[in-house]
Amino acid sequence: MITGAAGGLGAALCRRYARAGAKIAALDLDPLRLDALVSALTIAGGEVLSLALDVSDSSAVGNAISATVGRFGSVDVIINNAGISHRSLLGETDPAIIRKVMEVNFFGALNLTHAALPYLKSSQGSIAAISSVAGFSPLIGRTGYAASKHALHGFFDSLRSELVDAGISVTIVCPSFIATGIGGAALGSDRDGKAAGPRVTTGGESTPEDIAEKIFLAIARRQPLLLPDTTSRLAWWYSRLLPGAYARTMKHRVGSEFKL
Ligand code: NAD
Repeated sequence: MITGAAGGLGAALCRRYARAGAKIAALDLDPLRLDALVSALTIAGGEVLSLALDVSDSSAVGNAISATVGRFGSVDVIINNAGISHRSLLGETDPAIIRKVMEVNFFGALNLTHAALPYLKSSQGSIAAISSVAGFSPLIGRTGYAASKHALHGFFDSLRSELVDAGISVTIVCPSFIATGIGGAALGSDRDGKAAGPRVTTGGESTPEDIAEKIFLAIARRQPLLLPDTTSRLAWWYSRLLPGAYARTMKHRVGSEFKL
């Protein structure tokens, strides 16, 4: 089961798992892009169940689990990939934006993981959560996004210790920048949303295919943490060893989005 399946990374994950012969439940909010993805995978010989839903709707997610088990008989791997971002300084941001980001990025992952647990126990399966460098370090102009990704670490690192004896693996993935639509879709500061300016990246952008391949292998190896690119590995050590210097560098590089 892959959430955010119609997006840049989600679609690449679907293609990777389809290539491995997996049966895929593809979950996404956007029915049109989901249809296009599912048609392409099906034409290529994949077995795909299309589930258009909002991951923050716990009853819809529960129904999606039932539909998946009804069609495929089990749940072996869930990838909590659906995510949204915002770019806006907190002082100018409607708190509803922060709540919205938490609803999708954190509570969406909670909904799917909680509903899938009984089936993952039977299959001794795997859980993955797509976090970010913003899940372990600060990121200016994304207080809500960083909070939602940090929350994934507290949640899934704790859950791993609850599930290790049941044979379920938990993999947290922290990419830096991937060339997808997430920057263009980012919310701005107001409730209507679409006011974010252009995003600044640092250290280049990975392709979704490259990151999907690394995630596929990390889940197969039952790896607890994946830092899939050079920038994410540098950021991990830099932010841990020299947090003050890291915060200054990050502000210098990304703060230009806000003329800071
Ligand atoms: P994307 O915008 O291309 O894809 C996100 C997908 O999630 C979209 O198809 C969207 O329709 C879906 N989605 C959004 N809200 C949803 C909801 N409420 N219910 C169901 N589906 C919903 O972005 P992406 O870059 O492919 O993002 C995938 C994951 O990777 C996200 O969790 C993101 O935070 C993370 N990530 C991305 C980057 C990057 O630079 N692109 C870096 C680090 C982490």
